[in-house]
Amino acid sequence: MSATDVFDLLVVGGGINGAGIARDAAGRGLHVLLVEQAGLASYTSSSTTKLIHGGLRYLEYFKFRLVREALIERERLLSIAPHLVSRQRFILPYQPWLRPAWAVRIGLFLYDCLGSGGSLERSANVRLASSELGRPLRRELRRGFAFSDCTVDDSRLVVLNARDAAERGAVVQVGHRLVSAARERHFWRAEIECVASRRKFSVDARAIVNAAGPWISKVLTERLGSDSRQAVRLVKGSHIVVRQLFEGEHAYVLQHPDRRIVFVIPYQDDFTLIGTTDVAWRGEPGRVAIDPAETDYLCQTVNSYFERPIGPADVVWSYSGIRPLWDDAATEASAVTRDYVLDVDAPQGQPPVLSVFGGKITNYRHVAELGLEKLAPWFERMGAAWTLTAPLPGGDIPGGDIDAFIAEVRRRWPFLDALQARRLARAYGTRIARLLESVVSRDAMGEDFGGGMTRIEVDYLVREEWARSVEDIYWRHSKTGLHASPADQQRLDAYLQKTGNTGQARPALASSP
Ligand SMILES: Cc1cc2nc3c(=O)[nH]c(=O)nc-3n(C[C@H](O)[C@H](O)[C@H](O)COP(=O)(O)OP(=O)(O)OC[C@H]3O[C@@H](n4cnc5c(N)ncnc54)[C@H](O)[C@@H]3O)c2cc1C
Repeated sequence: MSATDVFDLLVVGGGINGAGIARDAAGRGLHVLLVEQAGLASYTSSSTTKLIHGGLRYLEYFKFRLVREALIERERLLSIAPHLVSRQRFILPYQPWLRPAWAVRIGLFLYDCLGSGGSLERSANVRLASSELGRPLRRELRRGFAFSDCTVDDSRLVVLNARDAAERGAVVQVGHRLVSAARERHFWRAEIECVASRRKFSVDARAIVNAAGPWISKVLTERLGSDSRQAVRLVKGSHIVVRQLFEGEHAYVLQHPDRRIVFVIPYQDDFTLIGTTDVAWRGEPGRVAIDPAETDYLCQTVNSYFERPIGPADVVWSYSGIRPLWDDAATEASAVTRDYVLDVDAPQGQPPVLSVFGGKITNYRHVAELGLEKLAPWFERMGAAWTLTAPLPGGDIPGGDIDAFIAEVRRRWPFLDALQARRLARAYGTRIARLLESVVSRDAMGEDFGGGMTRIEVDYLVREEWARSVEDIYWRHSKTGLHASPADQQRLDAYLQKTGNTGQARPALASSP
């Protein structure tokens, strides 16, 4: 099989780490190919708690450097993606038998200090007994604390990193899997397979980035034949979504007697997101689902704090993901480090493979920067770091003021209702102008496939964002699936079939015979 394309970097994995590295590398002038076996953000990177946070809990493990770094990134992501990242106030009800008040106060003080210089409100004491914030909670919860972090649209963060990478010259191939790669003198020769057609492609690359998340060890040992000593620890985490549990824009952080915490966050206007669990996982990564014990755990935690009880019958949606954590030999799944390790394997000057172990969606930008620094010795002409201040597509919102931008969107496209204007402004930022270019009425947006997902948006997602399936459109590129009926789904599926937009990705690489 002869190689048909030569790249500087072959990035394996279209989660946040792969997309982030592809973007950074393309912007430094490298010729990049990103291959993703499913759709962008199909796995871990769309299954998160949607937080851009330092991780208050990690202070208990003395992970000050990790928390500080993440808090700096929190501020950077707010400025480069103000449409996707939002400030969020959290209320932590006080439970004297779990952590003493002085310990919580010191923790929050440290959290404020580590995030100092940022734009988020500092922590404070709250009197739940006499405040609206305590209204949905059980009467005995009289005191609490408030602190700030951010939420994010995790899967759109991935998609927009990939979009920017492509606009800077990267080739992004969804539905394509790395089958194998071997070193041939100064290059890797890699075999890529189109998952739908089983057609194979051969490419050469000067370096490989293994950002395969839960498959990282499998890619290293089975696809690349490496004997790296770094190991990954797979930990499953699940979330449930119920109808809006309380009013207001604040979120809650609930302490569980096992010392874990559960987040309860307003979600997509009409819903509340609750998670997560931490369960050691020994099976294949792939598609994972919540099990009844996890649903019970989350419902019981909520019920021990909230007046209005919830049960499995209240769950309207759930999702699960596998954390690909770097194995630090901790005994408890919840205690395994959330830190990252960037490992370069390049025996005797041969072409390198960089593997990304662990990490969080919060620090992907910084991890990409560090990863490329590690590869710099192989790319003498690689450009300097640049992602610190460059907005993601649609993120160039004046002053980062999303509320003013939403108001502007309503003025410019008055036929959008308030909810739709907000959803589109947040999803696309200033790129909304491309989506609604020459659209003059609601009717011109075409058929509604549920949740306000109209034909022009579907076409845009297919054309600009590599969406290929009902799943992509309802659950990753948007969350309109929360409002779509089975009949809507069938109509959307039929539309995608009719327009030939399912299954195979548009080939950008030549296939080998
Ligand atoms: C339950 C849960 C909650 C979390 N909450 C948060 C949070 O609130 N905040 C935060 O900062 N972090 C959070 N995280 C952590 C964060 O989600 C992960 O660190 C991050 O998403 C990992 O991204 P990744 O790109 O490494 O992996 P993934 O997103 O899994 O991407 C890897 C990709 O590689 C692809 N792939 C694998 N093998 C191949 C192959 N051979 N060829 C082609 N493609 C391949 C896969 O299909 C996959 O799409 C959470 C994680 C979980 C599981």
